[in-house]
Amino acid sequence: LAGTDTPASRARWRDMTNQVTGRAARRLADRVCVITGAASGIGRATAERFLAEGARVVAADLDGERLATLEGAVPVIGDVSVAEDARRMIDTAVERFGRLDVLVANAGVIPLLDITEAEPADWDTVMAVDGRGMFLTCKYAIEAMLASGGGAIVCTSSISGVAGQARQAVYGPAKFVASGLTKHLAVEWADRGIRVNAVAPGTIETERVAAARVEPGGPEYLGEVLGAHPMGRFGTPEEVASAILFLASDEASFVTGAILPVDGGYLAR
Ligand code: NAD
Repeated sequence: LAGTDTPASRARWRDMTNQVTGRAARRLADRVCVITGAASGIGRATAERFLAEGARVVAADLDGERLATLEGAVPVIGDVSVAEDARRMIDTAVERFGRLDVLVANAGVIPLLDITEAEPADWDTVMAVDGRGMFLTCKYAIEAMLASGGGAIVCTSSISGVAGQARQAVYGPAKFVASGLTKHLAVEWADRGIRVNAVAPGTIETERVAAARVEPGGPEYLGEVLGAHPMGRFGTPEEVASAILFLASDEASFVTGAILPVDGGYLAR
């Protein structure tokens, strides 16, 4: 019919066709992706989503037992803060599939401490995993992507990597590292075909949040944080995975250096 051939109508038609034929449009078909922290929470939901979208997934984590339950992915057991391990995560993708298209730098630890409670060792641990680990995996990924003509990196930052929050004296600064690395790498490598973006999740219902509910001061802290999420609820790992998928896919082809809040409105306040 005249006037109906618009991008929106074509997309609706494609969706209807896919429903009829049972074929969903697969946004990461054959893309080679490394996801760190893939055994649980946001990383696991992202790995499952990427597999459903046709990606070849290398799933990296410290926790080999849980990784083994992630069907369809190539597991790599390792510590992102150890250079040889981080390199092995990237090398596994290149050796198995010939190249690297996407890195999701997501592994992290989340201590909820104010500065009087935090010990020097807490700072070192968080900076090692969330800071150095992100640096190492991005470094080796960019080296691999330069060899194969480009790619996309998505870092998991946080609302604490954009704004101040209570009980984040150690964790928050490490997430500012994630946000900063995202912007600097985006600018540096844009002309070589590498996009670098981050998601900034609000509080997400993962095991870490379940554990915080029974820590001293945890319920009070989570109650306050919940009140600061305008949508009045916490998010799900799947909601963060959807945003990571967008940034990793060609649908974000002109997006680089962005820190995308996935936070129910938290940062809009
Ligand atoms: P999670 O604990 O469920 O998952 C983290 C995964 O990382 C675990 O499987 C763990 O084994 C792995 N890991 C930890 N240290 C590692 C290391 N050194 N090397 C390799 N793997 C390691 O937590 P999550 O909530 O899914 O967190 C994922 C990311 O999301 C983190 O970067 C976190 O900072 C960020 N984040 C979480 C929330 C939240 O509310 N849950 C909010 C904002 C940002």
